[in-house]
Amino acid sequence: MAGDEFLKSIESNFQNAVRCLNATYEDDRLGEDLATKIMVANSTYVVRFGVRLRGQLFTFTGYRSVHSEHFEPVKGGIRFAPDVNQAEVEALAALMSYKCALVEVPFGGAKGGLIIDPREWSEMELERITRRFTQELAKRDLIHPSQNVPAPDVGTGEREMAWMADEYRRLHPAELNAWACVTGKPVGKGGISGRTEATGRGVEYALRAFFDHPRDVAKTGLTPGLKGKRVNVQGLGNVGYHAALFLSTEDGALITHVLERDGTVVDETGIDIRALRSHIMENGGVTGFPGHVASGMEMLEADADILIPAAMELVITADNAPNIKTPLIIEAANGPVSAEADAILRERGVVIIPDLYANAGGVTVSYFEWIKNLSRIRFGRMQRRAEETRFGALIEGIESMTGKPFPDELARRAVDGGTEIDLVRSGLEDTMRNSYRVISDVWNREEAAPDLRTAAMMVAVQRIAQSYQSLGI
Ligand code: GLU
Repeated sequence: MAGDEFLKSIESNFQNAVRCLNATYEDDRLGEDLATKIMVANSTYVVRFGVRLRGQLFTFTGYRSVHSEHFEPVKGGIRFAPDVNQAEVEALAALMSYKCALVEVPFGGAKGGLIIDPREWSEMELERITRRFTQELAKRDLIHPSQNVPAPDVGTGEREMAWMADEYRRLHPAELNAWACVTGKPVGKGGISGRTEATGRGVEYALRAFFDHPRDVAKTGLTPGLKGKRVNVQGLGNVGYHAALFLSTEDGALITHVLERDGTVVDETGIDIRALRSHIMENGGVTGFPGHVASGMEMLEADADILIPAAMELVITADNAPNIKTPLIIEAANGPVSAEADAILRERGVVIIPDLYANAGGVTVSYFEWIKNLSRIRFGRMQRRAEETRFGALIEGIESMTGKPFPDELARRAVDGGTEIDLVRSGLEDTMRNSYRVISDVWNREEAAPDLRTAAMMVAVQRIAQSYQSLGI
């Protein structure tokens, strides 16, 4: 089953990292006992519940796995998909622990899933199913502002998070922090500006950070700079769409391929991502869009500079890894490259910016949202006007001392106090830049880290181990 292979893949990445850590820090080895404790999921709950719909009782199966509670709450999305299974949820929960540790988000790792094809149900039916699932989770504290905080994932979004938050509030009307029980909520319902774009935005910042390290770029054989790079995006869901949109409109990259369920859009001059997204929304697929070709997953092997798998796990396996032509892959999805494929690609010199770093933008902004919910104040609300006044005075001073007008555009940028979205983006960019610097250092300094994934895992595992050790475990 794909879920088992995925879990094995994550465990093999983990074990590689432990081996490399132990080779690097011979005097401070991570014992096998603690390594095993960190690797395995702490608990996985399976809930089965009935919902009466269409005149009959339907039984649904859902999961919530908690991987590591070295920090609480534990954090991770809930996916709605027909092939959700326990091993997959456990693999994704483990990835959440490593992701949070790597980008210094003080949460443990968790993940949830519900076996359902959301396209088979109406909005009203989905709402009833989601609310019932929330009740099951709430009964076991598997949704809780200080213990376990879900978020969107494949097949879920703002709408489902709003239902979950509302249901939790109904069950706990006196709980002051009830809104903080899930993140990824709509802005009008306790959400934060920039959460929806966050994972795609994080992919953009990750690529910028990579291209800011010439030594790393040289390993791909690519020329410096993102401008003009040809990008192949697999999946134009929330993550793929935002990554492709920002890379094409802000960084000058050309999105030359977009792979979707019903084919691929190819345009060597760069696809208009907004227009393509509208087409998908209206027609349910890419068929009929200029440049559409009927294709399957072989388009992952198309000739481009950067490949962004942005949909599901295990799309690059030992079968297609030998044919991948892009020298750089950035994993916007969780686990798109199997451990076997990873070894083949590394052998071939392909550089992979790994999921635990590349798609950590989502959970980073979830962290900001959770803080906003606890503090009950929008970021920037207290400082914005004061900052504008201070910078305004500074500009006036410079103008009166020099007798020259301050350039309008610069004055506007200096005086405009940060709105919530500005602050969220700046916090996210800072997180992505700092984390990349740390991983790149390990990759380039430690003889033992053969690639970025191992380097990232080494940083994450070391931090989790230290956290357990300081607890005396
Ligand atoms: N589902 C997202 C992920 O895989 C976001 C998790 C969160 O925000 O808690 O990282």
